[in-house]
Amino acid sequence: MNPLTEHPHNHDACIHNALVSAAATCRDKGLRMTRLRQQVLELVWASHAPVKAYDLLDQLKSLGFNSAPPTVYRALDFLLGAGLVHRIESLNAYIGCDHPQQDHSAQFFICDRCLSVAEVDVSGVNAALSEEAGRCGFCIQSPTVEIHGICQSCR
Ligand SMILES: [Zn+2]
Ligand SMILES: [Zn+2]
Ligand SMILES: [Zn+2]
Repeated sequence: MNPLTEHPHNHDACIHNALVSAAATCRDKGLRMTRLRQQVLELVWASHAPVKAYDLLDQLKSLGFNSAPPTVYRALDFLLGAGLVHRIESLNAYIGCDHPQQDHSAQFFICDRCLSVAEVDVSGVNAALSEEAGRCGFCIQSPTVEIHGICQSCR
C-alpha cells in the first residue's frame, strides 16, 4: 500500500493494520507495549506525514499524559528498536512502518510539497550500497536512503 499513489484511501484501515501488526510484533519479540508507547504509535500513525517528537509531546499533553521529553524519546526509541516506526533523518521526524514483522531495508520517497513519505523497498539498493562500502572500507552507520521530490498528487 503506497500512500503516495493511493490518495485518498481509507486511513482507518492503515491505523488498524498498524496496531494489529504492532501487537503481533511485540508478542513475537517478547516486547512490552505500554499505554504510552501505544499512544505514541497511534499518534505517529495519525497520517502518513512524518511527525516530530515535539509535536508528539504537545499532543500527549493534550491527551492527559504527563510526559516530559525524555519519556517521549524513550517511547520513540522503543518503537524504533521494535521496527514499528522509521526515523526520517533529513526531516528529523518519524513515520510508522506498515510491515514491521518482515525484516527489511527501506528507502523513502519524501514529497517536499506535502511532506508525505512513502516507504519503498527497492531490491538490491541496500545490498549494493553495503558492497560498495565494503570495497572502500567505509562503515555504514545510518543506512537509510531518503529521496526528496514531488509526489503524484502534488505534481
Ligand atoms: Zn493510510
Ligand atoms: Zn518499514
Ligand atoms: Zn506531495
